[in-house]
Amino acid sequence: MGVCPSAIMPLVRDNFTGVLRHWARPEVLTCTSWGAPIIWDGTFEPDVAQQEARRQNLTIGLTVFAVGRYLEKYLESFLKTAEQHFMVGQRVVYYVFTDRPAAVPGVELGPGRRLRVEPVAREPRWQDVSMARMRTLHEALAGRLGREADFVFCLDVDQRFVGDFGPEALADLVAQLHAWHYRWPRWLLPYERDRRSAAALRPGEGDFYYHAALFGGRVAALRALTAHCARGQRRDRERGVEALWHDESHLNQFLWRHKPTKLLSPEFCWAPEVGRRMEIRRPRLLWAPKEYALVRA
Ligand code: UDP
Ligand code: MN
Repeated sequence: MGVCPSAIMPLVRDNFTGVLRHWARPEVLTCTSWGAPIIWDGTFEPDVAQQEARRQNLTIGLTVFAVGRYLEKYLESFLKTAEQHFMVGQRVVYYVFTDRPAAVPGVELGPGRRLRVEPVAREPRWQDVSMARMRTLHEALAGRLGREADFVFCLDVDQRFVGDFGPEALADLVAQLHAWHYRWPRWLLPYERDRRSAAALRPGEGDFYYHAALFGGRVAALRALTAHCARGQRRDRERGVEALWHDESHLNQFLWRHKPTKLLSPEFCWAPEVGRRMEIRRPRLLWAPKEYALVRA
Protein backbone atom coordinates (compact mmCIF):
# COMPACT_ATOMS: atom_id res chain seq x y z
CA MET A 1 0.00 0.00 0.00
CA GLY A 2 3.03 2.29 0.14
CA VAL A 3 3.03 5.10 2.68
CA CYS A 4 0.28 4.83 5.26
CA PRO A 5 -2.19 7.52 4.21
CA SER A 6 -2.93 8.34 7.83
CA ALA A 7 0.27 10.35 7.82
CA ILE A 8 -1.07 12.64 5.11
CA MET A 9 -4.77 12.32 5.84
CA PRO A 10 -5.11 12.74 9.58
CA LEU A 11 -8.70 13.97 9.66
CA VAL A 12 -10.96 11.24 8.40
CA ARG A 13 -14.35 11.50 10.03
CA ASP A 14 -17.94 10.48 9.67
CA ASN A 15 -21.01 11.01 11.79
CA PHE A 16 -20.61 7.80 13.70
CA THR A 17 -16.92 7.55 14.40
CA GLY A 18 -16.34 11.28 14.82
CA VAL A 19 -12.75 12.27 14.11
CA LEU A 20 -10.83 9.04 13.75
CA ARG A 21 -7.91 8.91 16.17
CA HIS A 22 -5.24 7.56 13.82
CA TRP A 23 -2.56 8.44 16.32
CA ALA A 24 -3.98 5.96 18.82
CA ARG A 25 -2.89 3.07 16.59
CA PRO A 26 0.26 4.15 14.76
CA GLU A 27 1.25 0.53 14.06
CA VAL A 28 -1.66 -0.22 11.73
CA LEU A 29 -3.25 1.23 8.60
CA THR A 30 -6.20 3.38 9.70
CA CYS A 31 -7.21 4.90 6.39
CA THR A 32 -7.51 3.58 2.85
CA SER A 33 -6.00 5.29 -0.19
CA TRP A 34 -9.53 6.49 -1.08
CA GLY A 35 -10.05 8.06 2.35
CA ALA A 36 -12.23 5.47 4.07
CA PRO A 37 -11.53 4.94 7.76
CA ILE A 38 -10.29 1.53 8.89
CA ILE A 39 -11.72 1.11 12.38
CA TRP A 40 -9.33 -0.37 14.94
CA ASP A 41 -9.87 -0.60 18.66
CA GLY A 42 -9.01 2.76 20.22
CA THR A 43 -9.40 4.83 17.04
CA PHE A 44 -13.00 5.87 17.71
CA GLU A 45 -15.16 7.11 20.56
CA PRO A 46 -17.97 4.61 21.20
CA ASP A 47 -20.06 7.26 23.00
CA VAL A 48 -20.02 9.59 19.99
CA ALA A 49 -21.32 6.77 17.81
CA GLN A 50 -23.99 5.82 20.35
CA GLN A 51 -25.28 9.36 20.63
CA GLU A 52 -25.30 9.93 16.90
CA ALA A 53 -27.18 6.70 16.27
CA ARG A 54 -29.78 7.59 18.90
CA ARG A 55 -30.11 11.12 17.55
CA GLN A 56 -30.89 9.66 14.13
CA ASN A 57 -33.40 7.24 15.70
CA LEU A 58 -32.03 4.35 13.67
CA THR A 59 -33.21 0.82 13.20
CA ILE A 60 -30.38 -1.59 12.52
CA GLY A 61 -30.99 -4.93 10.84
CA LEU A 62 -28.90 -8.03 11.43
CA THR A 63 -29.37 -10.88 8.97
CA VAL A 64 -28.16 -14.40 9.53
CA PHE A 65 -28.73 -17.70 7.73
CA ALA A 66 -29.08 -20.95 9.64
CA VAL A 67 -29.85 -23.71 7.19
CA GLY A 68 -29.51 -27.44 7.86
CA ARG A 69 -27.22 -28.36 10.71
CA TYR A 70 -25.93 -24.82 11.14
CA LEU A 71 -29.12 -24.07 13.06
CA GLU A 72 -28.56 -26.38 16.05
CA LYS A 73 -24.85 -25.88 16.02
CA TYR A 74 -24.53 -22.09 15.97
CA LEU A 75 -27.73 -20.06 16.02
CA GLU A 76 -28.45 -19.92 19.73
CA SER A 77 -25.01 -18.74 20.80
CA PHE A 78 -24.94 -16.31 17.88
CA LEU A 79 -28.21 -14.70 18.99
CA LYS A 80 -27.47 -14.81 22.73
CA THR A 81 -24.11 -13.12 22.32
CA ALA A 82 -25.59 -10.63 19.85
CA GLU A 83 -28.02 -9.64 22.59
CA GLN A 84 -25.05 -8.91 24.86
CA HIS A 85 -22.90 -7.06 22.34
CA PHE A 86 -24.53 -6.09 19.04
CA MET A 87 -25.76 -2.49 18.88
CA VAL A 88 -26.78 -2.49 22.53
CA GLY A 89 -29.05 0.50 23.23
CA GLN A 90 -30.20 0.78 19.60
CA ARG A 91 -33.31 -0.49 17.89
CA VAL A 92 -32.41 -3.84 16.33
CA VAL A 93 -34.27 -6.28 14.15
CA TYR A 94 -32.85 -9.75 13.57
CA TYR A 95 -33.73 -11.57 10.39
CA VAL A 96 -33.11 -15.29 10.70
CA PHE A 97 -33.33 -17.11 7.39
CA THR A 98 -33.83 -20.82 7.84
CA ASP A 99 -35.30 -23.94 6.27
CA ARG A 100 -36.81 -24.93 9.66
CA PRO A 101 -38.55 -21.94 11.23
CA ALA A 102 -40.04 -24.07 14.02
CA ALA A 103 -36.57 -25.04 15.23
CA VAL A 104 -35.36 -21.48 15.81
CA PRO A 105 -34.50 -21.25 19.53
CA GLY A 106 -36.40 -18.79 21.67
CA VAL A 107 -33.89 -16.20 22.83
CA GLU A 108 -34.93 -13.50 25.26
CA LEU A 109 -34.59 -10.12 23.57
CA GLY A 110 -33.85 -6.77 25.16
CA PRO A 111 -36.17 -3.78 24.82
CA GLY A 112 -36.45 -2.39 21.31
CA ARG A 113 -35.19 -5.62 19.77
CA ARG A 114 -37.19 -7.95 17.56
CA LEU A 115 -36.58 -11.17 15.71
CA ARG A 116 -38.18 -12.21 12.47
CA VAL A 117 -37.90 -15.69 11.02
CA GLU A 118 -37.91 -15.95 7.24
CA PRO A 119 -38.30 -19.34 5.57
CA VAL A 120 -35.87 -20.30 2.82
CA ALA A 121 -35.42 -23.45 0.77
CA ARG A 122 -32.53 -25.75 1.62
CA GLU A 123 -30.04 -25.97 -1.22
CA PRO A 124 -28.39 -29.37 -1.54
CA ARG A 125 -24.76 -28.16 -1.58
CA TRP A 126 -23.33 -25.99 1.19
CA GLN A 127 -21.74 -23.79 -1.48
CA ASP A 128 -25.20 -23.12 -2.87
CA VAL A 129 -26.59 -22.34 0.59
CA SER A 130 -23.83 -19.80 1.03
CA MET A 131 -24.27 -18.26 -2.43
CA ALA A 132 -28.08 -18.25 -2.34
CA ARG A 133 -27.84 -15.74 0.49
CA MET A 134 -27.12 -12.96 -2.00
CA ARG A 135 -30.35 -13.38 -3.92
CA THR A 136 -32.41 -13.91 -0.77
CA LEU A 137 -30.93 -10.81 0.83
CA HIS A 138 -31.52 -8.84 -2.34
CA GLU A 139 -35.19 -9.71 -2.20
CA ALA A 140 -35.48 -9.13 1.54
CA LEU A 141 -33.89 -5.69 1.18
CA ALA A 142 -36.62 -4.81 -1.32
CA GLY A 143 -39.27 -5.93 1.16
CA ARG A 144 -39.93 -5.53 4.86
CA LEU A 145 -36.28 -5.61 5.91
CA GLY A 146 -35.49 -2.76 3.57
CA ARG A 147 -38.45 -0.75 4.79
CA GLU A 148 -37.83 -1.17 8.50
CA ALA A 149 -34.04 -0.95 8.71
CA ASP A 150 -31.81 2.03 7.99
CA PHE A 151 -28.60 0.01 8.12
CA VAL A 152 -28.16 -3.73 7.80
CA PHE A 153 -25.33 -6.09 8.73
CA CYS A 154 -25.19 -9.49 7.06
CA LEU A 155 -23.31 -12.10 9.06
CA ASP A 156 -22.32 -15.76 8.98
CA VAL A 157 -23.87 -17.74 11.81
CA ASP A 158 -20.74 -19.73 12.69
CA GLN A 159 -19.36 -17.09 15.02
CA ARG A 160 -20.18 -15.42 18.32
CA PHE A 161 -19.85 -11.95 19.74
CA VAL A 162 -17.26 -11.52 22.48
CA GLY A 163 -16.94 -7.74 22.51
CA ASP A 164 -19.16 -4.73 21.93
CA PHE A 165 -20.07 -4.15 18.30
CA GLY A 166 -21.74 -0.77 18.15
CA PRO A 167 -22.72 2.06 15.82
CA GLU A 168 -19.08 2.98 15.22
CA ALA A 169 -19.29 0.26 12.56
CA LEU A 170 -22.10 2.02 10.66
CA ALA A 171 -21.48 3.56 7.25
CA ASP A 172 -22.93 3.51 3.73
CA LEU A 173 -20.92 0.44 2.75
CA VAL A 174 -18.96 -1.53 5.34
CA ALA A 175 -16.44 -4.27 4.58
CA GLN A 176 -14.51 -6.60 6.85
CA LEU A 177 -10.75 -7.22 6.52
CA HIS A 178 -10.21 -10.98 6.43
CA ALA A 179 -8.42 -12.30 9.51
CA TRP A 180 -6.25 -14.73 7.57
CA HIS A 181 -5.26 -12.36 4.79
CA TYR A 182 -4.91 -8.83 6.11
CA ARG A 183 -1.14 -9.03 6.27
CA TRP A 184 -0.67 -10.68 2.89
CA PRO A 185 0.75 -8.91 -0.16
CA ARG A 186 -1.92 -8.12 -2.70
CA TRP A 187 -0.65 -10.50 -5.38
CA LEU A 188 -1.12 -13.44 -3.02
CA LEU A 189 -4.73 -12.68 -2.11
CA PRO A 190 -7.16 -15.48 -3.05
CA TYR A 191 -9.27 -13.55 -5.54
CA GLU A 192 -10.93 -15.46 -8.37
CA ARG A 193 -8.46 -15.39 -11.29
CA ASP A 194 -10.31 -17.46 -13.87
CA ARG A 195 -11.49 -14.92 -16.44
CA ARG A 196 -14.52 -17.04 -17.27
CA SER A 197 -15.97 -16.20 -13.85
CA ALA A 198 -17.85 -12.94 -13.32
CA ALA A 199 -15.94 -12.63 -10.03
CA ALA A 200 -12.51 -12.53 -11.70
CA LEU A 201 -10.00 -9.84 -10.80
CA ARG A 202 -6.96 -9.27 -13.01
CA PRO A 203 -3.42 -9.10 -11.71
CA GLY A 204 -2.97 -5.75 -10.01
CA GLU A 205 -6.66 -5.38 -9.21
CA GLY A 206 -8.07 -5.55 -5.69
CA ASP A 207 -7.42 -3.38 -2.66
CA PHE A 208 -7.83 -5.73 0.29
CA TYR A 209 -9.29 -9.18 0.74
CA TYR A 210 -12.68 -8.83 2.37
CA HIS A 211 -14.46 -11.47 4.40
CA ALA A 212 -17.99 -12.44 3.38
CA ALA A 213 -18.81 -13.44 6.97
CA LEU A 214 -19.57 -9.76 7.64
CA PHE A 215 -20.64 -6.92 5.42
CA GLY A 216 -23.11 -4.14 5.88
CA GLY A 217 -24.31 -0.70 5.05
CA ARG A 218 -27.34 1.29 4.04
CA VAL A 219 -30.15 -0.55 2.33
CA ALA A 220 -29.53 1.07 -1.08
CA ALA A 221 -25.83 0.14 -1.08
CA LEU A 222 -26.61 -3.41 -0.05
CA ARG A 223 -29.23 -3.72 -2.76
CA ALA A 224 -26.52 -2.90 -5.30
CA LEU A 225 -24.02 -5.27 -3.68
CA THR A 226 -26.39 -8.22 -3.50
CA ALA A 227 -27.64 -7.59 -7.06
CA HIS A 228 -24.07 -7.63 -8.37
CA CYS A 229 -23.17 -10.83 -6.54
CA ALA A 230 -26.41 -12.66 -7.36
CA ARG A 231 -26.06 -11.69 -11.04
CA GLY A 232 -22.44 -12.82 -11.17
CA GLN A 233 -23.28 -16.12 -9.55
CA ARG A 234 -26.11 -16.70 -12.02
CA ARG A 235 -23.82 -15.98 -14.98
CA ASP A 236 -21.20 -18.34 -13.61
CA ARG A 237 -23.76 -21.08 -13.22
CA GLU A 238 -24.90 -20.58 -16.81
CA ARG A 239 -21.28 -20.90 -17.95
CA GLY A 240 -20.63 -23.91 -15.76
CA VAL A 241 -18.01 -22.22 -13.58
CA GLU A 242 -17.93 -21.49 -9.85
CA ALA A 243 -15.78 -18.85 -8.20
CA LEU A 244 -13.03 -20.06 -5.88
CA TRP A 245 -14.60 -18.73 -2.67
CA HIS A 246 -18.20 -18.60 -3.91
CA ASP A 247 -20.14 -15.53 -2.74
CA GLU A 248 -16.96 -14.12 -1.16
CA SER A 249 -15.25 -13.95 -4.56
CA HIS A 250 -18.18 -12.00 -6.01
CA LEU A 251 -18.23 -9.75 -2.94
CA ASN A 252 -14.56 -8.94 -3.47
CA GLN A 253 -15.26 -8.19 -7.11
CA PHE A 254 -18.01 -5.74 -6.18
CA LEU A 255 -15.92 -4.06 -3.49
CA TRP A 256 -13.07 -3.51 -5.90
CA ARG A 257 -15.39 -1.58 -8.21
CA HIS A 258 -17.43 0.09 -5.48
CA LYS A 259 -15.12 1.14 -2.67
CA PRO A 260 -16.44 0.56 0.82
CA THR A 261 -16.82 3.73 2.87
CA LYS A 262 -15.67 2.05 6.08
CA LEU A 263 -13.45 -0.94 6.77
CA LEU A 264 -13.47 -2.97 9.96
CA SER A 265 -10.15 -4.22 11.27
CA PRO A 266 -9.75 -7.98 11.72
CA GLU A 267 -10.51 -7.38 15.41
CA PHE A 268 -14.18 -7.20 14.42
CA CYS A 269 -14.24 -10.73 13.03
CA TRP A 270 -11.27 -12.61 14.36
CA ALA A 271 -10.14 -16.20 13.87
CA PRO A 272 -8.39 -17.49 17.01
CA GLU A 273 -6.58 -20.10 14.87
CA VAL A 274 -4.49 -17.34 13.32
CA GLY A 275 -2.64 -17.14 16.64
CA ARG A 276 -1.53 -14.20 18.75
CA ARG A 277 -1.10 -10.91 16.93
CA MET A 278 -0.01 -7.78 18.74
CA GLU A 279 -2.41 -5.56 16.76
CA ILE A 280 -5.49 -7.63 17.66
CA ARG A 281 -6.49 -6.06 20.96
CA ARG A 282 -10.17 -6.62 21.54
CA PRO A 283 -11.98 -9.03 19.24
CA ARG A 284 -15.69 -8.36 18.67
CA LEU A 285 -16.65 -11.58 16.90
CA LEU A 286 -14.78 -14.86 17.02
CA TRP A 287 -15.16 -17.50 14.36
CA ALA A 288 -16.34 -20.82 15.68
CA PRO A 289 -13.96 -23.71 15.03
CA LYS A 290 -14.55 -25.06 11.53
CA GLU A 291 -16.32 -28.37 12.15
CA TYR A 292 -17.14 -29.04 8.54
CA ALA A 293 -17.42 -32.79 9.01
CA LEU A 294 -20.33 -32.17 11.40
CA VAL A 295 -22.23 -29.37 9.71
CA ARG A 296 -21.64 -29.97 6.04
CA ALA A 297 -22.10 -33.72 6.00
N1 UDP B 1 -24.88 -21.75 5.83
C1 UDP B 1 -25.93 -22.47 6.41
N2 UDP B 1 -26.05 -23.81 6.11
C2 UDP B 1 -25.18 -24.45 5.27
C3 UDP B 1 -24.12 -23.72 4.71
C4 UDP B 1 -24.00 -22.37 5.01
O1 UDP B 1 -26.72 -21.94 7.17
O2 UDP B 1 -25.35 -25.65 5.05
C5 UDP B 1 -24.79 -20.30 6.11
C6 UDP B 1 -24.31 -20.02 7.52
O3 UDP B 1 -24.82 -18.78 7.94
C7 UDP B 1 -22.81 -19.95 7.33
C8 UDP B 1 -22.72 -19.23 5.99
O4 UDP B 1 -23.82 -19.73 5.24
O5 UDP B 1 -22.17 -19.27 8.39
C9 UDP B 1 -21.41 -19.44 5.21
O6 UDP B 1 -21.03 -20.79 5.21
P1 UDP B 1 -19.75 -21.25 6.05
O7 UDP B 1 -19.73 -20.51 7.34
O8 UDP B 1 -19.74 -22.74 6.13
O9 UDP B 1 -18.57 -20.75 5.11
P2 UDP B 1 -17.08 -20.39 5.58
O10 UDP B 1 -17.17 -19.36 6.66
O11 UDP B 1 -16.46 -21.65 6.07
O12 UDP B 1 -16.45 -19.88 4.32
MN1 MN C 1 -18.53 -18.95 8.21
